[in-house]
Amino acid sequence: MTHRTSSESRSSRRDSPFPAVANADIHHVRETIITWFETAARPLPWRDADTSAWAVLVSEIMSQQTPVSRVEPRWREWMHKWPTPADLAQAPTAEVLHSWDRLGYPRRALRLQEAARVIAEELDGHVPQTAQELERLPGIGSYTAAAVASFAHGERTTVLDTNVRRVLIRLFAGRDRPSASPGRAETDWASQFVPETNHEKWNAGVMEFGALVCTARNPRCETCPLSDMCAWQKAGRPASEVKPKTQKWAGTDRQLRGAIMDVLKSAHEHSAGSDNFGSVSFDLFTASITEVDPELLDLLPSHTSTKLAQVRELSADPERISRLIGDLISDGLAAQDGEMLRLPG
Ligand code: SF4
Repeated sequence: MTHRTSSESRSSRRDSPFPAVANADIHHVRETIITWFETAARPLPWRDADTSAWAVLVSEIMSQQTPVSRVEPRWREWMHKWPTPADLAQAPTAEVLHSWDRLGYPRRALRLQEAARVIAEELDGHVPQTAQELERLPGIGSYTAAAVASFAHGERTTVLDTNVRRVLIRLFAGRDRPSASPGRAETDWASQFVPETNHEKWNAGVMEFGALVCTARNPRCETCPLSDMCAWQKAGRPASEVKPKTQKWAGTDRQLRGAIMDVLKSAHEHSAGSDNFGSVSFDLFTASITEVDPELLDLLPSHTSTKLAQVRELSADPERISRLIGDLISDGLAAQDGEMLRLPG
């Protein structure tokens, strides 16, 4: 075992991007955030006391990379349709992807169904209690595991999403934004703010504070109850050296993949009672419109034809479309039957 000398320790503290925080300040921030949360929290349905651990887990997966306003109606539909892990585990994957609708990043829906299968088949339908156990489920990373363990089971964890990281970094490090992703050192540093009691309120409250007050683009510093101690505010709100990740959409492969998925979802939606079981000919995506067999086009419901036209508007490059279809198949988001393409069964 090696021991650090006191000068090494002092040097490592000096180099740390996470400053030492006085106990009085930690106490003040906790009290202020928890008090603020008790009156200002949005009445999100998954915060109700009788929400199941499974429903909390679904809300956390859906809320990754998708605004809460878009998540809420979809979450309500899902919980009505598939209230338990066993319900989702048995659902046809095509139906799961169709119901994911426009939440984006649909691989999350597949991972959620995989997690549901593990919970239903190996854990007797019980969502694991601790963050450590939750992280063993498919598609559950450290953030989601900590959030579900805290909000559903009351484990004292450190929930560190982008909002929490931004609030703490502004308050104590005087920087506008945190680095691209948190490391062990940041999680350890942030853990000192999590109180022994009321830790769920702290975790949920500081996330909510980042979402509603200390927002990325327009922080409400004039009315912020922590402005008197905020290092970033006191420093004159200097611009960050960390460039924000710009989420380009128009013209990207992600946009085109989404449009291809929309065709398959539309075909699935309109497939009830028809002979083609929601399949769409590969050629309709890749062949030049003049080469397409008009009968294949006639087979499509009009809504699906409209979605297909949108794919063609986005790209007239058959190689690019073929490549993206191949990616969708290998990601498990689409399935191929001979010349036909559809949502996986
Ligand atoms: S003063 Fe402004 S930057 Fe500082 S915590 Fe409050 S809202 Fe965030």
